[in-house]
Amino acid sequence: MKENTVYMGCHLSMADGFRAMGERALSIGANTFAFFTRNPRGGKAKDIIPEDAAALCEMLAKENFGTLVAHAPYTLNPCSGKENVREFAFLAMSDEMIRMESVPGNYYNFHPGSHVGQGVETGIAQISELLNRILKPEQTTTVLLETMSGKGSEIGSRFEELREIIDRVELREKVGVCLDTCHLNDAGYDIAGDPDGVLGEFDKIIGLDKLKALHINDSMNPLGAHKDRHARIGEGTLGYEAIKRIVHHPALVGLPCILETPNELDGYAREIKMLK
Ligand code: FE
Ligand code: FE
Ligand code: ZN
Repeated sequence: MKENTVYMGCHLSMADGFRAMGERALSIGANTFAFFTRNPRGGKAKDIIPEDAAALCEMLAKENFGTLVAHAPYTLNPCSGKENVREFAFLAMSDEMIRMESVPGNYYNFHPGSHVGQGVETGIAQISELLNRILKPEQTTTVLLETMSGKGSEIGSRFEELREIIDRVELREKVGVCLDTCHLNDAGYDIAGDPDGVLGEFDKIIGLDKLKALHINDSMNPLGAHKDRHARIGEGTLGYEAIKRIVHHPALVGLPCILETPNELDGYAREIKMLK
């Protein structure tokens, strides 16, 4: 990876395996991508074919890809009030930690979850406990907490909450943060109007060394709306110019940028070209 390269991609389907994802990424001009290691709505995960994973790793090195950003199923809730729901998140994520080792050294992003009335403190304790159970000293994957919009009882819409989770993790070097530009805006952080201010606050509270990846989305809602509706780049409240400034911000360039805009592959190809 080169420090001054813009790494940009989108979510790709794992249905045809690892190598196919790499080829699809290249075909749309992407040099990183995101994927669900299993069906995002849950269900049994497909077996990984070691040769297929190895073929992707070879391609990533040869084509100078940035770090990949896998995504946990968004149906998991690590801080549910129900113990069986929390246990399911633990089982799914510990299995994913093993699966991720077939493509070593990449990122695995998850939504911290919703405390559903248990209170922020209880939620934070449960999320950090889950991390302490799934993280192993020998793993090469870094697990990322995503910044959330704060809809409902979501945890992670304030940098302070993420900091508190990280503080309670024993293997702190295995955790990082993924900033989602739509979520930041909806949480009330003016990432479009004042990126330096927001990144300065992130640095003060969490530390920029913990910032590992970005989800690049425009937002359908105004600053602080606590909504979470993604818009295509340039079709929302952040706007094309502001998003381009974020992608090329000196403090952020070199981090993998994943588009999660409502698009098909051709739309992603266009947005990647527009922003690179
Ligand atoms: Fe997410
Ligand atoms: Fe996101
Ligand atoms: Zn979102």
